[in-house]
Amino acid sequence: MFQDFLSLLFPEICHACDQTLARGERYICTECNVKLPYTDLHLHGATELNYLQQRFWGKAPVRFAFSYLHFRSKGRVQRVLHKLKYKGAQELGEHLGRLYGTLLAEHGYAAHFDLVIPVPLHRLKLRRRGYNQSDGFAKGLAEALQIAWSSKVLERVIDTDTQTKKSRLDRWQNVEQVFVVKQAEEVSGKRVLLVDDVLTTGATLEACAHALLQSGCSEVSVTTIAAA
Ligand SMILES: [Zn+2]
Repeated sequence: MFQDFLSLLFPEICHACDQTLARGERYICTECNVKLPYTDLHLHGATELNYLQQRFWGKAPVRFAFSYLHFRSKGRVQRVLHKLKYKGAQELGEHLGRLYGTLLAEHGYAAHFDLVIPVPLHRLKLRRRGYNQSDGFAKGLAEALQIAWSSKVLERVIDTDTQTKKSRLDRWQNVEQVFVVKQAEEVSGKRVLLVDDVLTTGATLEACAHALLQSGCSEVSVTTIAAA
């Protein structure tokens, strides 16, 4: 009753289309749930049909590469990513993580991972934003896959945003030094599922994968909310 009254005063809106949610809908409306551009990459596993997998060939040994959605610079996906990153919608990240994690678990992938690790923000950026937009997605995935997740294992020691004025070559050389593993004992011998919000070139995930593998992690897979 009180909840109904509240939702009348402050209707919850869909994070993908900004329309008012109907009773029983959470975070994303039924229409958007149907229309979001899903990649369905989990259906292809680690084969040549998985275009995301191919992007890591010759760069980093990645066991599986998945993304929940196709990246779109406009429309539903853009709105979802924007709210996740700039509007404090951390629960939305968890919700998407649980949905995707459930899907991955249904297709037998839970047995392939031991630990979920989100790509970290630099501590100054984390302080400014207040949260890491990839943490929620990592947490939701881990919950659905019934494995652990940790935001303490990996650290971003260089703020790459301050590197953008440098030449491309310099940046490429720097990227390998951007991430360090703080707790090698936590990843040693484990199969890690590395998580980020968006994948564009894959350079960030690649750098994280190298850092993890150098620290004794046995295998790295990657997944994002959206991939270009
Ligand atoms: Zn919607």
